[in-house]
Amino acid sequence: MPYSIAIDGPAGAGKSTIAKAVSKELGYVYIDTGAMYRTVGLYCLLNGISITDEDTVVDRIKDIDISIAYDDEGVQQVFLNGENVSTKIRTQEVGEAASTVSQYQPVRDKLVSLQQKLASTTSVVMDGRDIGSKVLPNADTKIYLTASVKERARRRANELREKGETCDIEEVEKEIEERDYRDMHRENSPLVQVPDAVLVDSSNLTIDETIDKILDIAMHR
Ligand code: C5P
Repeated sequence: MPYSIAIDGPAGAGKSTIAKAVSKELGYVYIDTGAMYRTVGLYCLLNGISITDEDTVVDRIKDIDISIAYDDEGVQQVFLNGENVSTKIRTQEVGEAASTVSQYQPVRDKLVSLQQKLASTTSVVMDGRDIGSKVLPNADTKIYLTASVKERARRRANELREKGETCDIEEVEKEIEERDYRDMHRENSPLVQVPDAVLVDSSNLTIDETIDKILDIAMHR
């Protein structure tokens, strides 16, 4: 039976960095589900579809083919209708678009079934917002990874600056708060800490300490 670790939490909590490292350590496949929602967001932006127009977004999801592959280093690559969009989806604008289109149930249905299929044959570390609650409710280990808004904004701003995007820390903080609110209060699959998830607050932990903590939790389940 494949083994699964679900890591949920708000934007900028370090989920992908941590999930990547944990999967490498354990020899599991890392699945970044946020990348899939970002791909739907990117498709809308590229095709002039208003992301707030639910009917049109839902009508067009049949035209969106998303697939996942891994490069030589085992890094997840996401393809939109055959084109590798792994870099294009990493902007603040696409993140915002993802957060809006992810509210629509048919978008979620399509991506959740792809995620479940990926986890059915191999051991995975999967990160997102609804992994422990909806995608892998029977995951062997469930983690709710969070950090204070201030710390998350600081990390996200650094990330954006490293990519050459200019940003204002207060603006990033505001966007994180808005995104948290939207992700936690939406009707469909809101971000929640499920009762069987272990809370890990990384505000005062280094990346290595956070990884060790999660590996320790996974080993003792
Ligand atoms: O994690 P990331 O910032 O890449 O996710 C982008 C957006 O996609 C989130 O703000 C959230 O709205 C949505 N998402 C989701 N469910 C997931 C993963 C991401 O709704 N499992």
